[in-house]
Amino acid sequence: PLVLSIESSCDETAMAVTDSHGVVCASVVATQIDFHARFGGVVPEIASRKHTEAIVGVLEETLAQAGAHFGCDTLAPSDLAAVGVTSGPGLVGALVVGVAFAKGLAVAADLPLIAVHHLEGHLMANLFETPDLKPPFVASLVSGGNTMLVHVRAWGDYEVLGSTIDDAVGEAFDKVAKALGLGYPGGPVISKLAAKGNQRAIHFPRAMMHSGDYSFSLSGLKTAVITYIEGENRAGRPINLPNLAASFEAAVVDVQVAKAKTAVEETGVSDICIGGGVAANPELRAAYQKTFGKMGVRVTVPPMRACGDNAAMIGIPALRSYLAGNFAELTLDAAPNAPLGAWSTPDAPVPP
Ligand code: ATP
Ligand code: MG
Ligand code: FE
Repeated sequence: PLVLSIESSCDETAMAVTDSHGVVCASVVATQIDFHARFGGVVPEIASRKHTEAIVGVLEETLAQAGAHFGCDTLAPSDLAAVGVTSGPGLVGALVVGVAFAKGLAVAADLPLIAVHHLEGHLMANLFETPDLKPPFVASLVSGGNTMLVHVRAWGDYEVLGSTIDDAVGEAFDKVAKALGLGYPGGPVISKLAAKGNQRAIHFPRAMMHSGDYSFSLSGLKTAVITYIEGENRAGRPINLPNLAASFEAAVVDVQVAKAKTAVEETGVSDICIGGGVAANPELRAAYQKTFGKMGVRVTVPPMRACGDNAAMIGIPALRSYLAGNFAELTLDAAPNAPLGAWSTPDAPVPP
């Protein structure tokens, strides 16, 4: 059986086909970055419209790619066994496009429908290269819209230890890049600059580092960076971009590592993983390896290609739900604030 998965929660229109062993037979990502870049962030109205424009073409390309995988021209919707779709969280107008399309396809091709939680997809992207990752473990989910520490007690059984009270980590990268006129998304460009800079050049606050809980706050750091930029501009001093980027990034990473370390100690797990678009950040990856390596705790990360939004990662929970018969009703609706664990399939087997 082949499961089609659909992702449209933010600014990527993506689909994938996964076979019953978890092999990704096709994966197509149509990004809208170019349409949002000039605004320095995702414009929800544009996102919805671009999803609507792209979605049929993405299906055709995905079915053709899957066809090539099996040595034929293209697959037909009737070759599929089920359709899974990211139903939340995300931008409501963006989610709605994928959910409505999935429901239409489910009716037209007589396929069962599966609801998938976007962050469970980011989390399970770790299984691509580390199929033996087994709960219990701690997960740092760091993306454009979310920042949280999760105690994964079992697949589908998630205890959110804490999350950000304002901005997400990826959002902070994006806003700092915007303030510097570096475009969108900010993460890749800031981390590239940071690699050439001095982390100790400028001291930025490590908000809530010692708050004694697992909450995060990023908006003060963003403001501190913007205030610094304005101050240098006023004084007529040129800004050393690599030093600024490295100092900002270090402030972010220090807090993530410190709280993740406490979470690992308190839960007593021997594995930690990172998920979400910011999992692509080399400094964050290196800092986790360094800290947890010393503690004998294994660090797992998704492959670079599966860090940002894609549908292959959505295919993993979709396949698990398919194998367990966990289907959604056709009344399924976009759920922009769905809590982690919504629609999960506890204890379902993870396919090899
Ligand atoms: P969510 O997953 O919370 O719904 P999202 O889907 O919009 O949000 P992702 O696509 O998962 O977010 O991640 C995108 C974010 O990752 C952007 O904010 C981007 O700047 C950030 N990002 C990407 N690469 C890097 C990097 N190398 N360093 C830091 N941040 C990065
Ligand atoms: Mg995106
Ligand atoms: Fe995401």
